[in-house]
Amino acid sequence: MSKQATYSLFEDVCKFVDEAASYMQVHPGLLEQIKACNSIFQFNFPLKKADGSYEVMTGYRVQHSHHKLPVKGGIRYSENVEQEEVKGLAALMTFKCALVNVPFGGGKGGVKLDPTKYTAEELERVTRRYTAELIKKKFIGPAIDVPAPDYGTSAREMSWIVDTYEAFNPELINAKGCVTGKPLSQHGIDGRTEATGLGVFFGIREACSVAEDMEEIGLEPGLKGKKVIVQGLGNVGFYSAKYLQEAGAKIIGVAEWNGGIFDEAGLDVEALKAYQTKHKTFEGFGRGTFVSESSELLTYACDILIPAALENQITSENAGDIQAKIIAEAANGPVSQAAESTLLDKGILILPDMYLNAGGVTVSYFEWLKNLSRVSFGKLEKRYDMEKYRKLMGTIENATGERFTEDEKEALIRGASERDLVISGLEETMVDAYHSMNNMRKAKKIKSLRTAAFILALQRIVISYTDLGIFP
Ligand code: GLU
Repeated sequence: MSKQATYSLFEDVCKFVDEAASYMQVHPGLLEQIKACNSIFQFNFPLKKADGSYEVMTGYRVQHSHHKLPVKGGIRYSENVEQEEVKGLAALMTFKCALVNVPFGGGKGGVKLDPTKYTAEELERVTRRYTAELIKKKFIGPAIDVPAPDYGTSAREMSWIVDTYEAFNPELINAKGCVTGKPLSQHGIDGRTEATGLGVFFGIREACSVAEDMEEIGLEPGLKGKKVIVQGLGNVGFYSAKYLQEAGAKIIGVAEWNGGIFDEAGLDVEALKAYQTKHKTFEGFGRGTFVSESSELLTYACDILIPAALENQITSENAGDIQAKIIAEAANGPVSQAAESTLLDKGILILPDMYLNAGGVTVSYFEWLKNLSRVSFGKLEKRYDMEKYRKLMGTIENATGERFTEDEKEALIRGASERDLVISGLEETMVDAYHSMNNMRKAKKIKSLRTAAFILALQRIVISYTDLGIFP
């Protein structure tokens, strides 16, 4: 997963935006305003480590667009974090939110560190100090800027963030909405952990359901028997693979930074994840072949290749060797702008990041709404006379001959749980956005779904900025 020295994710995103703008009438000044990052906050702070030594850490928070507030986007902990990356990721959030109609501007943050090299106590100190720096400069708050998990962070870090934020803002009634992706005990929402992966699954399922598009790339419609290779078995990669496997697809390869695994007969994703959690490697897993140079797996023959790790993985260097029919971008920016035309010319269908991984921010939006309204959706369940309804259910079964499981009865009687609401909202968002994007692609007679997605997002952002006017 090496990086090219000259590569800039931010520049790549700007080039994609320019490409989309060439199909539209946008005032050149407005286009420059839309592409530019509004605010960039880079800061250093000390960490006192467990052994008494000091380390100076570098943190970032970038607010790309203020056309909708708060701005929204994750916090990344990785050794590769640097300003161009955070700017690019923040810009992608702007277009992602606009595409799926989530009313946020785009933002992103990060700390340059490899979380595996620090103790949990050290990571807690880093996270709390990082949050305090954001508070001092007003770069966090439910109405200003709302972080979430990203590569290298999870619900645990979000919990430390909300606790720190509340300690500094004890009078703020909506303080819980300062960050999303929190644990359920800290007013998170049921379904957020798996939301991005589930969204990836819904997106791939939708793409594979359009028979004429599948015919064009030489695949049968549907997911059954599709051969899938995944890069990265973190939160997003794992849940994407798990839901695809449950739907009948075959996960034939998984690549990780320290080696990959390949088995034409299909791997059991949950067993593989359990093995990796225990042994920190795929080496020695009972089935398949261990592939020490994991980037090679990207070029193996398969139907669907899912890069679910970092940006700049499919570049002009390896694009010509890709054999997949579909590239499903679960990560942000995995295909470089320079590689895209080679892939499209090979007839590969690319499901772009700004669409495919939008499930995370979509469910973050539900969590934020829940926090602002201070309502727990579970508490809204109606209190029925369960016995009476159970009898009624029996009458229905007798009359129709249909049989319900106990779980189904419970669900039918009680109504939708928080989880049901989250999942159906997510599904609807991913299905609707896919067809708007695909219809735009066909209307413009272009190959690239990404360009179509950027056109849609850009149209909405242009309207928003134009209606706002320019201050003063
Ligand atoms: N980090 C995720 C992303 O890249 C989620 C952002 C959010 O929920 O705000 O989309």
